[in-house]
This record gives sequence, C-alpha cells and structure tokens, in this order.
Amino acid sequence: MSAPVSHWFSSLAGGGGMPAARPPLDGDRRVDVCVVGGGYTGLWTAYELRRTHPELDVLVVEREVCGFGASGRNGGWVQGALAGDPSTWTGRGGAEGARRMRAAIRATVGEIAAVAEAEGIACDLLVSGTLTVARSGVELERLRALERAARRDGLWDGGEDALLGRDEVAARVRIPGAVGALFDPACARVQPAALARGLADAVERAGATIVEGTAVTAIEPIRGTVPAVARTDRGDVHARWVVRATEGYTPELPGERRTLAPITSSMIVTEPLGPERWAQIGWSGAETLLDAGPLYHYLQRTADGRIAIGGRGVPYRYGSRTDREGPVPASTVATLRDGLVRLFGPALRGVAVDDAWHGVLGVARDWTPFVTADSTTGLASAGGYVGEGVAASNLAGRTLRDLLVGRRSELAALPWVLPPGGRPPRWEPEPLRWAGVRGVYGLLGLGQEIERRTGRASRVTALAGRISGH
Ligand SMILES: Cc1cc2nc3c(=O)[nH]c(=O)nc-3n(C[C@H](O)[C@H](O)[C@H](O)COP(=O)(O)OP(=O)(O)OC[C@H]3O[C@@H](n4cnc5c(N)ncnc54)[C@H](O)[C@@H]3O)c2cc1C
Repeated sequence: MSAPVSHWFSSLAGGGGMPAARPPLDGDRRVDVCVVGGGYTGLWTAYELRRTHPELDVLVVEREVCGFGASGRNGGWVQGALAGDPSTWTGRGGAEGARRMRAAIRATVGEIAAVAEAEGIACDLLVSGTLTVARSGVELERLRALERAARRDGLWDGGEDALLGRDEVAARVRIPGAVGALFDPACARVQPAALARGLADAVERAGATIVEGTAVTAIEPIRGTVPAVARTDRGDVHARWVVRATEGYTPELPGERRTLAPITSSMIVTEPLGPERWAQIGWSGAETLLDAGPLYHYLQRTADGRIAIGGRGVPYRYGSRTDREGPVPASTVATLRDGLVRLFGPALRGVAVDDAWHGVLGVARDWTPFVTADSTTGLASAGGYVGEGVAASNLAGRTLRDLLVGRRSELAALPWVLPPGGRPPRWEPEPLRWAGVRGVYGLLGLGQEIERRTGRASRVTALAGRISGH
C-alpha cells in the first residue's frame, strides 16, 4: 500500500506520501489493553491511558498505517459538536446531561490544541471558529431556528456565538448571495494526517507500542479465566481489555456487520490559489465553512493556500462494502467542483482540482455516537461519530480511559456512555439497510431541490433530518 490516500498525506512535511509501516505484530502477546485501529479514537485512547497510567502495557494494532482511515482523510474540522439530535441527548441524560455533553465536547477543541502544542505536533491547528453560511431565506430561517432552539434549551453561549448579518459575513468571506451566517467559535482547522501521524508518535513517546500492517480478524470476550483476545493474521493478543476503534470498517469484523454502517464522504482540493483569488474571496481567517443547504458542503482554507471541500459521494454501498483505496468517481469530483464554483462565483471560475479522495464514516442506527465498556467481557468500543469525529474521538479516548481504569469521573457519566454491555441499536439486515441509508440521502437531495425551486422549507428535508438526527 503506497499510493497516498489523501492530499493530507501527499503534503505531509518531509516530502509527503504514505509513510513506511511500523513493524507488524511478531507472534502472540499478552498486554493490559489491546486497541484495534490506529485512527484518532484508538490513538487518543492509548495516549490517554499511558499518560495517566504508565504502568499499563498498551498495544495498538493497525491494519494499514496509523491515520489510514477517516482520520487521515477528513475535512480537518476540530468541531466542538456531536452528531445526534439535541433531543437524543436530552432523552438520555435530561437537560442537565445534554448540557454536560455539550460542554465536554466544546472544551475538547482546546484540549486537542493544548496536547498538540505540548507534544509538538505540527498540524497547522488554528482555533478560528466556524461559519455556517445561508444563501437563501429558507437557509437563514433554518439557522435562526437553531439559534432559537439553543437559547430555549440554555445551550446558547451568548459570548462569541453570533448570527451574523449580510455585511458581517462579507467582512469574513465573500460568498455571492450570502444573506447571513451562524458563527460558532468552538472549532479549529487542522491538517488531519499531520495530526494522526504526530499523535501516533506521541503515543509511542508515552510508552505504548504500535504495530502496523497487522489485521485483526476477530475479537473475542473474556471466557472464564481466559482473557479477551484480538486474533490477528500474525498472532493472538490476549488482554484485560480489547478496545475496538475501527469506525467505518467495523462491519468487516465477525459479528459486527450491523453495528455501524460505513458511509462515504468525498473531498477535493484545489490548486494553490494566488493572492488575487484570495483577495477576491476575502477569506483571510481560517474559519471552517459550511453551506446551510440540506446536502451541505464543508470547506477549509488549507495552510498551503488551497480550498479543500467535501460532501457526499456515493454514500453507501450494498452490504456495507467499503472501498478503501478506490478512485473517486469523476462525477463526484465534478459535483464537488461545481459546488465550489457555485459558492464563490467568478473568483473560482477555471480553478484546477489537484487531488480527490474519499473515506468512510461510521454511522449507528440512531445516528448518535457512543462509548461503551464492559468489564465482564473485557470489550470496549467507541464511534458512530457520523461526520463529527475529529474532536469527539479525543473525548471518547479520555472517556474510555476512565471507564477502563474504573474511574467514576464526570466523563464516565456522560450521556453517550452506554450501560455496561450496552450496544448501539443494530441496523436492519440488507436490503433494508441499503434502502434506509440511501433513502435518507435521497430525501435530503429531494429536499434541497424543492427548496431551490420554491424558496420554501421542505417537509421532506425535515423528515430526513429527523431520521438522521440533524
Ligand atoms: C471525507 C471525510 C471528511 C470528514 N470530515 C470531518 C471533519 O471535518 N470533522 C470531523 O469532526 N469529522 C470528520 N470526519 C469524520 C472523522 O474523520 C472520523 O469520525 C474520525 O476520523 C474517526 O476516527 P476513528 O479512529 O474512529 O476511525 P478511523 O480513522 O477510520 O480509524 C479506524 C482505523 O482502524 C483500522 N482498522 C480497521 N479494521 C481493522 C482491523 N480489522 N484490524 C486492524 N485495524 C483495523 C483502519 O485501518 C483505520 O486506520 C470526516 C470523515 C471523512 C471520511
């Protein structure tokens, strides 16, 4: 495996490209904690465990190289937000639980920035907030409704959070037709692969071991006096705890086919934009950008002077198939480029696309992320972040740490922690799973079209939003 999986890997400092894999597992091992998957979730869990409990023997087993999955391919939004309808969190933890969940994820943005600085992880991280830009009355009304709901539920910070008017938006970024935007300060921009690779190095410095090029083929619980085990193609790892951190790839493991659905998100990056184009666009800060349409696009201004934009590609493949290395269809690249040019207008006409890639997110049946650990089975896992996992995976890593060492902390009592032995609700078997996921995206696309034609909010969008927790 040598072709870079994203612009983020191609542009890593020191020449770019896929890094050589660390040595694989060399026969059977016995450890305290075996972490399966070297993305952010697995790496943060290992880092936090070793940072606070250096006596624990922690091993990370990665099938490819650390950051190969979504962690090295994402949009680079370190967002202080979680997937899932606010009512889900209220339902699980009451109003107070929902507030604690929100406070914890917002504080995580600063937590990641602090670790990156302390560990010297050079990943272009800038805490600069995020703008959700409305380009029609319907979109603006959706933002206003969000603001109203946040105020009603006591979730509006009232500080730097702001609904910006047309001129205030134009002062930050010139998007033709923008009528307003929601600014949320709880977001940082990051170079995703640089964060993943730097974090893997920090995990090793903290004293955990990482093996790469080693596929886990099965995870089995504690049986009597036999500890939990992660079976691999290169030996078995017995452990007091096995943490599954495989997100969108989870369905490939035995018994996990219906735990998480892998949903594809695709990205392109432009050529470096010259000073003239940047002057026209006027996007001089590093705020991440989202358009407020039902089938939104997410964007970042990269540290190397390009725009990276992502959106839905072919969202779901029958039978939860994941195309781990396949090329992005030309039609998806064209759609994303069109979306970009439509957003910025003439300033980006003729802009070249330098790279395109995609990756898989993990989505639970209730579209809500979770953390779970059960000391009687020795099994733990976290994920289902949908498209909001960069910050959430750090919070999950710290939460798993507390659960694994039996610490009764505030983190261990957050509403996303399932009771011991709890699992997220399972997806339906095929073909219902395929029909369900495709149906949600079909409805969102239809809703967008109706909004564009009529200029009015569509019930179809609301229905899809209710189903998918947005
Ligand atoms: C295109 C795209 C854009 C995104 N944009 C954003 C964004 O801007 N902001 C945001 O918050 N979130 C975003 N996300 C989501 C975010 O990237 C993920 O939620 C997050 O990276 C998940 O981290 P993870 O460690 O749980 O999973 P992953 O990073 O997918 O890591 C799982 C790891 O497990 C390994 N693995 C799988 N199976 C096995 C096995 N059997 N044995 C051993 N190892 C195995 C894989 O190789 C992989 O390295 C985006 C995702 C994508 C795909």
